[in-house]
Amino acid sequence: MRVRIELELADREVYGKNKMRQELDEYLCKVYPKMMVNRNKDMQETCMCWGFEVGDGWFNIINQLMGNIQHHLDWKNRNEEVVPQVTLDQVKEKFGSLRFYYTGGDDYIRGMATMAESMSGVTCEVCGNIGESNGGPWIRVRCKEHDNE
Ligand SMILES: [Zn+2]
Repeated sequence: MRVRIELELADREVYGKNKMRQELDEYLCKVYPKMMVNRNKDMQETCMCWGFEVGDGWFNIINQLMGNIQHHLDWKNRNEEVVPQVTLDQVKEKFGSLRFYYTGGDDYIRGMATMAESMSGVTCEVCGNIGESNGGPWIRVRCKEHDNE
């Protein structure tokens, strides 16, 4: 039991930095309310209660992705709902790249999300500059300046 608790604490230290700044999180909630309906639900219901579990450097990728998704939905559904509204389930970093989990959408939106996830793989998660994966045990994408963060 003790070992497990220590492991969990260690994990939290490593992953603790992967949290988007509050004002950026609030901005995305305000601009894309339809996609963010899960943000303040209980942790039993959704992982979105943790917010955006990525560094600030990926904000632009996520903001552009969400903007393009909502624009596509609004256009497609201008007369009647033919594409289900996208709602976010979890946004996090895994093995050095963005993971954007959601419900709803169509193939077009799936493609945009795949492209965004791929761009995160060459974008410093701290500052948004060009980055590359480090070779460490915890794969992360960093520019030269943020190599150790
Ligand atoms: Zn950087």
